[in-house]
Amino acid sequence: MSCTGRFAPSPTGPLHFGSLLAALASYLDIRAQGGTWLVRIEDLDPPREVPGASDLILKTLDRFGLHWDAEVVYQSQRHALYHSALEQLLRDGLAYHCQCSRKQLTQRHAQQSYDGYCRSHPPSSDATTSVRAIYPDTALSFDDRIQGERVYPADPGRGDFVIFRRDGFFAYQLAVIIDDQEQGIDQVVRGADLIDETPRQMVLQQHLGYRQPSYAHIPVLTNAEGQKLSKQTFAKPLSLDSDEIRRQLLRALNLLGHPVPDELQTGSHAEILAWAVQHWSMAQVPRGLTLAPEAG
Ligand code: GLU
Repeated sequence: MSCTGRFAPSPTGPLHFGSLLAALASYLDIRAQGGTWLVRIEDLDPPREVPGASDLILKTLDRFGLHWDAEVVYQSQRHALYHSALEQLLRDGLAYHCQCSRKQLTQRHAQQSYDGYCRSHPPSSDATTSVRAIYPDTALSFDDRIQGERVYPADPGRGDFVIFRRDGFFAYQLAVIIDDQEQGIDQVVRGADLIDETPRQMVLQQHLGYRQPSYAHIPVLTNAEGQKLSKQTFAKPLSLDSDEIRRQLLRALNLLGHPVPDELQTGSHAEILAWAVQHWSMAQVPRGLTLAPEAG
C-alpha cells in the first residue's frame, strides 16, 4: 500500500543537524516503503520568520539528496483552507472565541493550562479574540513507532488550546493537521520535541472527522549540557560543502541506528542514501540521543 510522508520545517533559520535527522528519517522511512515524500514550508508566523530561510532550507535538502516528489506547499498560501476549518469548528461548537489576555491568565494562575473562562463567558462580538478548541475530558493515547505507547490521562487541566491567535495568525496546531489531511499524509515522522503536541492534534483530527496518521517521533538531540539542540539555541547551520555533507549524512545515519559500512564511507551522497533506503528499519532508531561534544 502506498504511503505519504513529509518534512515540514518552519523557516525560522537555516537547517541544523537536528532538523537533518528528522528530514532524513522521514525521507528514508517513506522511500523504503516506495511511498511519496513531500516538503511543506510552515511559514505561518511571519514575526518569527528569517528572510531567505525557506529557500536556504530547500537548497540544503536538495544538496543532501533529499528530493521531494511534488511542488513544495507553503502554509502562507493556504489561509482560506484554515479559515473554513476554523469556521466549521466554531459552527459545531467545538471551538469558541476567547479574549483572555496573558496578563489575565497569569492573574488567574491559568497560564499553563486554560481554565475555560470564555467557554461560559463569551466575549462581546467586537472584542479582539483568539479561538480555542475544546480539549475533551477523556484520556487519549497513541502508539508511537519509536517512543512506544503514549498515554495522556483524562486531565481537565490540560485545557482548551489556541487555534487562532489574537494577533490574527492561525496556530501551528490547526494548520498542521489540515495540511496533513489535505496532502494525504499517513505517516508523520518528526522530532520528539513535538510529541506532547500530538494529543491536541488528535483532538482536532477527531473534531474535524479526519483520519489519524501514524506517528514516529525521533529523539531530540541534546548537547553535552543536556540542552536541546535547536535553531533557538543557535545550533550551527549545515554546511553545503560536499565532504561536509557526506560527513553529516554518515553521522546522522549512525545516530539513527544505521551505521554505514566501511566500504561506503567514501561513496557519493546518492550511494549512501541508496544504501540507507535499502537497510532502513524504524525499529533500529534509538529512543534517545545525546550528541558527542565534537559534533556541532
Ligand atoms: N514546523 C514544525 C517545526 O519546524 C514541524 C511540524 C511537524 O513536523 O509537525 O518544528
